[in-house]
Amino acid sequence: MASVLIALGGNVGDVRTTFKKAIAHICGMAQATVVARSSDYATPPWGDENQDPFVNACVEIETGLDPHALLFVMQKVEQKFGRTRDQDRRWGPRTLDLDMIAYDDVSMNKPDLTLPHPRLFERAFVLVPLAEIAPERVISGIRVRDALASVSTQGIEQLPDTG
Ligand code: ATP
Ligand code: CA
Ligand code: CA
Repeated sequence: MASVLIALGGNVGDVRTTFKKAIAHICGMAQATVVARSSDYATPPWGDENQDPFVNACVEIETGLDPHALLFVMQKVEQKFGRTRDQDRRWGPRTLDLDMIAYDDVSMNKPDLTLPHPRLFERAFVLVPLAEIAPERVISGIRVRDALASVSTQGIEQLPDTG
């Protein structure tokens, strides 16, 4: 079994409910179990700032699927929750974005899958929830809590548990 860190994001629709359902779908489709799940966080938009705030979270799962099979499942789940790809607007509004942050210690650079996720260390909206569930995890030689200490977390707010 592999330990996989997945970052969730979205800013269209009832994102927190989408996250709950999406995690259940991933587990069902990938024969995966949830090891840890962060709180949800409200975060300022990144990359394209002219849009609504996002909700972000991270989850650690254990799965027997290989990285590409898991990516396929993640893309199916994005589609199921109404994700459409706006060709003209990179980092624009979306119902659900699922990024594979790390898959064990696998390092790969394929056209459709880069591991660990290449923009992880510049994104407080990933590092804040990740540090909640895996502060001691070392990714590309950097400990998650050290990575978090090197970015600004301004504007990121932990949301109360909805049960
Ligand atoms: P970013 O990757 O900067 O977070 P994004 O999430 O908005 O941007 P998408 O449009 O969701 O980008 O995905 C573009 C492509 O990225 C996908 O088709 C997928 O094949 C590829 N990709 C490469 N590495 C990964 C990864 N680690 N996790 C998820 N998708 C990846
Ligand atoms: Ca993303
Ligand atoms: Ca993505």
